[in-house]
Order: sequence, then structure tokens, then C-alpha cells
Amino acid sequence: MNAQELFSKNGFSVHVWYCLSCGIVSKEKEVAENCCKRSNCRYCGEPVEEQHWLAHQACIEKNKIEKAEKLGTWDGWVVYEDKYYTSVDELIEDLEDNKDSIPEYVFICKKKPFPAINIEHLIESIEENSYEGIIDSLVGLDALTEAVNAFNENNKDLVSYLPDKTKMVCLKDYATKEGASISHWIRKNYHGYKPIS
Ligand SMILES: [Zn+2]
Ligand SMILES: [Zn+2]
Repeated sequence: MNAQELFSKNGFSVHVWYCLSCGIVSKEKEVAENCCKRSNCRYCGEPVEEQHWLAHQACIEKNKIEKAEKLGTWDGWVVYEDKYYTSVDELIEDLEDNKDSIPEYVFICKKKPFPAINIEHLIESIEENSYEGIIDSLVGLDALTEAVNAFNENNKDLVSYLPDKTKMVCLKDYATKEGASISHWIRKNYHGYKPIS
């Protein structure tokens, strides 16, 4: 019993429960009841030490690696150990310069377009925060629209790259020296956890 029901001053239940261990509240008794209960990892079945986690972080990462679509070739950005590279070649070069071994697979990156300013949203926010019909009295709206459009156009090439954890590119051709395999790489990086069956 880890959940405590909350009551108003005059003794009525407010239909809210809170976890006696950490104080998180929930409308459902069961959620509060199980809030701080140690879970067994949904992947390896071993107890999870971290509060409120349903799986080991390493197991979550390992599962992503196993589930990811494996691409034979890729000509865009890649990410490896929190570092971003414009291409596979650039990554290999960096690894070789540092005398690091080459992993068999790395996550690719997805492109995120420039977060252009949305003129309609700007006008909506003016309308929402003022009197009705203000739009007809705004001065310089056309000039602003034109400036925003030009700004968006001039900056459209400023794209960002984010890890795409659903796809990996195979570096096998480069990894022959090591004779590495993905299971070898997973063991090396995530030792201590049982493989997912
Ligand atoms: Zn709790
Ligand atoms: Zn686990």
C-alpha cells in the first residue's frame, strides 16, 4: 500500500491519490499505488534501480539498435557517440585519426528544416491577445509579411540534423580489420545485460 487518497477540508474525497514515497499525484489509485514500485526491465527482466523507469536505459538503447532498419549505404549525416558527421567518410576519418575501432553500424541523421516564422500564427496571437477586429487597424502588415517571407527564404538552408534512431547504416566494408559484428559491438558497449530474446 503506497497510495494515499486525498480529501478536502470538509472530508470529501477529491478522487486524487498520491504516492507516499515521492508525492506524485494521480486520478487513478493504481497509478499512485505502483508509482515507486521497482519494475522489472521489460527487456531483460532484471530489476530496474532507477525510479519511475520501466526498463534499463542501456536495454532501451540496445533495443533501438536491434530494431533499427539497417541500410547498406547512406550519403547523408550520421551520428556516433554524440558526435555528428556530414558523411560516413568523415566519421571513418575521425575514428582512424583517433585510432578508434570502427563500429559495424551507426545511426543516421534526419534533416530538420529551418523553423520558419509563421506570419499567420503571429497575427493570430495578436488577435487572441487584443480586441476583436484589431487586424483591420494594424499598420504595416504588408511590409511585415514581406519582410518575414524574405527572412524565411534567406534562411531556408539553415537546416538541423537530429539522430534518426529508427535507421542505421552498415559500416561493414570499413570494419573488416576488426571482424566486428553487431552482437560483438553490443556486447562491448552494453555488457552486463542479457540479450533480448
Ligand atoms: Zn512515487
Ligand atoms: Zn534491462
